[in-house]
Amino acid sequence: MPPAVTAITLATVRIDLHTHSTASDGTDSPAQVLERAAAAAIDVVALTDHDSIAGWEEAAAAVEPTGVVLVRGAEVSASAGGIPVHILSYLHDPADRALAQLLEHTRTMRVRRGRAMVEGLARDFPITWEAVVALAGDAQTVGRPHMADALVAAGVFPDRDAAFVRVLHTSGPYHLPLEAPHPRDVVTAIRAAGGVPVMAHPLAAKRGRVVGDDVIADLVDHGLAALEAFHRDHDPAAVVHARRLAARLGIPVTGASDYHGAGKPNRLGENLTTEAVFEALVGQGRIEVLRPSAG
Ligand code: AMP
Ligand code: ZN
Ligand code: FE
Ligand code: FE
Repeated sequence: MPPAVTAITLATVRIDLHTHSTASDGTDSPAQVLERAAAAAIDVVALTDHDSIAGWEEAAAAVEPTGVVLVRGAEVSASAGGIPVHILSYLHDPADRALAQLLEHTRTMRVRRGRAMVEGLARDFPITWEAVVALAGDAQTVGRPHMADALVAAGVFPDRDAAFVRVLHTSGPYHLPLEAPHPRDVVTAIRAAGGVPVMAHPLAAKRGRVVGDDVIADLVDHGLAALEAFHRDHDPAAVVHARRLAARLGIPVTGASDYHGAGKPNRLGENLTTEAVFEALVGQGRIEVLRPSAG
């Protein structure tokens, strides 16, 4: 006789708290990010475009048709003595003037840095600033992925990754750092706007230099709420380090995909955040999580 089948309820809520859309350097529109999330059986998504909340409205309108719960967020650029740091902001008040101005200023600095980088690239490759801007489309946040797109469109490289590996990486001769506020000031501005600041990929050494534990401890003193420990740019040792550091500092860890559509191999839901951590974090935010009506 076959063994009796035991019904096991897998009530796990799948939560992905870091994604990008065409509002910055992703390749899916904000609505498409939610549609793909639904298709990937993700229950909760945070839209976290670089230095912009331009995708919030479209994403919000997609909550009801897709049934995906939306956390409105952003990934805010910072720089600690030249080392780039990314601080995710969840559920901040979009009307907060200081944070809105900080984001706008960084977008302006991105254009300045982008123009200068393209000037250098144009000496060796068929690339123009106009082409980069055209490929950025609606995005007010211009970045290296759009420069990669211009090089791909010109036939220089087959895809974004090849462009990064060959010319756009941080140690290459064409790279210029983005001028951005210190992460301490970013964390403070996010908290003042009612947002929940979480450090993205804190130990992603393959992207370049990362800040020391002392810097992260100082950020926690200024209100940092969690560390994104589970991220594809962390090797197993980095995950262990991030978890130990977070435990020592008394903050939780998150996991997320950093999905960019077709622009990167990251798949929605490849790393997830637990429901308990999600609830603890969103409970600190000033604006509401957008949920589809029941049924
Ligand atoms: P930027 O903000 O202009 O310095 O550009 C950094 C962005 O490039 C980040 O959003 C990364 O996700 C993206 N990026 C980094 N490496 C790659 C890669 N190999 N392929 C595609 N995108 C990448
Ligand atoms: Zn990006
Ligand atoms: Fe990032
Ligand atoms: Fe990101």
